[in-house]
Amino acid sequence: MAAETLEFKTEVQQLLDLMIHSLYSNEEIFLRELISNASDAIDKRRIAALTDSELSVPGAGWKIKLFADKEAGTITVRDNGIGMTRDEAVESLGTIAHSGTKAFLEMLENEDIKDNPELIGQFGVGFYSAFMVADKVTVFSRKAGTEAGEAMRWASSADGSFTVETWEKDATGTDVIVTLKEDAKKFLEEWTLRDVVKKYSNYVEHPITMDVTRKGEDDVEEVSEETLNSMKAIWLKDRSDVDEEEYKEFYRHVSHDFTDPARTIHYRAEGVNEFSVLLFVPERAPFNIHYPDFRIGPVLYVRRVQIMDHCEDLVPKYLRFLQGVVDSSDLPLNVSREILQNNRQVEVIRKSLTKKVLETLKTLKTDEPDDYKTFHTEFGRVLKEGIHYDHDRREEIAALLLFESTQTKAGETTTLDEYVERMQEDQKEIYYITGSSRAQLESSPLLEAFAAKGYEVLLMTDEVDDVIFGGLATYQEKPLKSVVKGDVDLGDQEEKEEAKEKYGALVDLVAGALEGKVSEVRLSGRLKGSPCCLVTGDNDLAPGMARVLEQMGQEVPAATRVLELNPDHELLGKMQAQFEADAEAPQLKEYAGLLYDQALLLEGSPLEDPAAFARSITQLMVASTQVGEAAPDAPSDDA
Ligand code: ADP
Ligand code: MG
Repeated sequence: MAAETLEFKTEVQQLLDLMIHSLYSNEEIFLRELISNASDAIDKRRIAALTDSELSVPGAGWKIKLFADKEAGTITVRDNGIGMTRDEAVESLGTIAHSGTKAFLEMLENEDIKDNPELIGQFGVGFYSAFMVADKVTVFSRKAGTEAGEAMRWASSADGSFTVETWEKDATGTDVIVTLKEDAKKFLEEWTLRDVVKKYSNYVEHPITMDVTRKGEDDVEEVSEETLNSMKAIWLKDRSDVDEEEYKEFYRHVSHDFTDPARTIHYRAEGVNEFSVLLFVPERAPFNIHYPDFRIGPVLYVRRVQIMDHCEDLVPKYLRFLQGVVDSSDLPLNVSREILQNNRQVEVIRKSLTKKVLETLKTLKTDEPDDYKTFHTEFGRVLKEGIHYDHDRREEIAALLLFESTQTKAGETTTLDEYVERMQEDQKEIYYITGSSRAQLESSPLLEAFAAKGYEVLLMTDEVDDVIFGGLATYQEKPLKSVVKGDVDLGDQEEKEEAKEKYGALVDLVAGALEGKVSEVRLSGRLKGSPCCLVTGDNDLAPGMARVLEQMGQEVPAATRVLELNPDHELLGKMQAQFEADAEAPQLKEYAGLLYDQALLLEGSPLEDPAAFARSITQLMVASTQVGEAAPDAPSDDA
């Protein structure tokens, strides 16, 4: 039969025009598409051969073979798969067999597709991506189970039409011959092909081979067949069929890490949604994990074909330390980023994976506390972001966190569950304090009354802690309370009233002296040994939170600080005596300033006027060391 010339369907030609004229980046994916088609064809034949042994392939087995012909300027992708009849070729390679074609084309026209090459092969149009690099594509195919003389040849230069004719072909299967454009000749290089295959098709199940020429002994050129892909789709195997070494090797491959993974999570979901997950928790945090450009998410495969090297829609951000692959059986091959964002399958996978990972961490925490601690040191900071972002799971995530507390030794940790178990009978809240170091927090006067009551306080030293735990309102229905914020009332109500009566006027005087520096001065229910402390208003940002927001460039409203005075401290008694003797005494105002400065120092804040502070202290020292003489302007024991 003579060659027939047929018109492409309008949308196909539209698509081809886009391929040729608009897509310049990532053109290498054409090879992934052709290999993927070859692999699909082999799968089809393999399945058909199960019921029709005539169709099976004797000898060397299933194979995809690449040829690069430098003289002709062609790349050939050959498979021994199912093949196509003439009619099938007309149907498959002349139309777009997808109902969403129109929408897809509109998307291609609207999107900035030069930066979105994943779009190309979407909706079952991968074959046409060959025209990104080709002047002409020729397909020779012989359907398995048909005669050599019934084979066919299909060819097109994407100029609106294609030709088909009957052909003679010895082997069953398909050859796709891509005549490369001048500027795509780099694909004729052995190393380019090898790289591209490794990058996108390394885990295709069938061997992808190429003849390579090597200089052997005495400079004689020898040709040998090389397999370019590793084919080890180990995530599709059963756990029991993969040994530790294989996992490690694969981890290093996907993560570009040198160390071994700390944990391997490998499972397969079956049923309505089918997917395989192989994830690793690394031992060490990569240096850039807190950078905004850190690339998040496992490699996404669809039926063994790599679609995306980091699919961030598959994991919540707070699990961004995970490395590995997800292979979906349900997603369309070459699905776009836009589609992934709102895809139900992806949602299902993300949920499943999140659940599994959190469960794994929980088990690790219980069974191997030392390993878990290492994990927490590396990734606890990332994990706890989940409290902020994953509202539904915030308690589950909080349960995974480790804290130092006033009841752990330095460097040792506790959990919220353990804390709750240790809570005093009359204790209603979970207390925490945030600051820059354990040493600084331990010396905080804010903790005194808690210590006296035997209430444990969690010591938090991470900048983000204020933000995160401010958002975790309760744990096991117990309110979380920052001891830095608001009024903490641990004292006796009656005593409090008495103190108020006794010191009311003095408190007003101190407040007057500190006007503009603090919003309020009040008697404290939380102090034992120290004379005073600074706290933050109930509705204010905690100091750590304010710092974080400031670093993010946000405007932070000035916090209203509250100075609390300890009614049980000797100093207050002495100031009161002085006040009663002479309410106008100038040193009362000076003491007010010193108390404020002291409180600043104790919480680790800089002094507003260090020189004035030093001057005051010096004066006090001079006054109190005048042996044998009364010091008129300074406190002394009999003042
Ligand atoms: P998809 O692979 O998603 O179906 P493609 O555009 O990549 O979309 O391929 C279109 C169709 O062409 C395939 O579904 C298949 O029927 C046919 N085809 C392409 N390449 C081959 C091949 N090597 N062997 C057999 N059939 C093929
Ligand atoms: Mg395809």
